Amino acid sequence: MRDLGRGWFQITTEYLDLCGLPLYLHAFADEDGIVLLDSGVSATPEASIRPELARAGLSIQDIHLVVNSHAHPDHMGGNAALAATCAPVFAGPALEAGWLEDNDTLIDQLWNANPDAYRLSEAQRAELVLQLGDRPRVERLLRDGDEITLAGTALEVISTSGHSPGHLAVLDREQGLLFTFDDVQGFGIPIAHTDMHLAPLYHDVRRYRDGLKRLNALEFERLLPSHGDSLDADAGHRRIAESLLFLDRAEEFVLDYLDGVRHGDSPGDSPGDSAGDSAGDSAGDSDRAEQVRLGPLAAALGEQLGPYGGLNLQTMSIAKAHLDDLVRRGEVVPTFARTPEEQR
Ligand SMILES: [Zn+2]
Repeated sequence: MRDLGRGWFQITTEYLDLCGLPLYLHAFADEDGIVLLDSGVSATPEASIRPELARAGLSIQDIHLVVNSHAHPDHMGGNAALAATCAPVFAGPALEAGWLEDNDTLIDQLWNANPDAYRLSEAQRAELVLQLGDRPRVERLLRDGDEITLAGTALEVISTSGHSPGHLAVLDREQGLLFTFDDVQGFGIPIAHTDMHLAPLYHDVRRYRDGLKRLNALEFERLLPSHGDSLDADAGHRRIAESLLFLDRAEEFVLDYLDGVRHGDSPGDSPGDSAGDSAGDSAGDSDRAEQVRLGPLAAALGEQLGPYGGLNLQTMSIAKAHLDDLVRRGEVVPTFARTPEEQR
């Protein structure tokens, strides 16, 4: 727990032990009670929020508003536990209301959107459902430009998306605090006790880039991400610049990969990959050589662009986002094929 001054507190959570990533939540306390930015995973309210607030002489019972930045488990999984404890109003991005209120929709559309490339095992899904907890209703749907007026300050809602469809950043303009949650990911986040990084996660290149540019144009004294230490203005702007640079490097990687496949070098295709025989058996060799499959591309990116651990949700999101962006710009054309017999 860190007292950031003038009513703001930073809550350290148990997530570091659970997933190897730090996860900070932020709370603002005034005469009306406590506003909490994000709720952690299902266990976080009891494991971290209650004891951390108590350490500062505050009570979890006084939380009256929870603002969820976006519908990922580490940002809203604690909602149900908080609903049972202190019955706060929940607020979250209007664009993610479906994900915030329905775990199945979230899992199907986020983790299992491209099952040919990547899918959760039953055990992984069960673990995820555990972290997500039950989904209470989100009463207050937030949109870009909304203001949350509190007794002690006012918070501006900035819709940045990219990382998720409706991701929100929150600015306390008076105090110069910019809460960016998962929006400023740099080159990824170091995973504790390993040499690995969790790669940035984004689904829409244009929105992610535009959101980063909007944040960069804001005046702030501190930038506070969810998964790392807070940064002063200079370091914050540098991290935003790194995040933008990552987009350029990832696009370059994808373009090089496409060129390699076109010239028949299949860079980074994992052994045993069946790209060549998976589809278009009747097509000529030259057509076949140009087919790129999402899984092998994501795996190559996760090995070669950085220490990102090959194929995972993050690297798949990056590969898919850049392919989609190239399709949108008319640089590549999607093709579709029947799933090979043995994979059905
Ligand atoms: Zn996230």
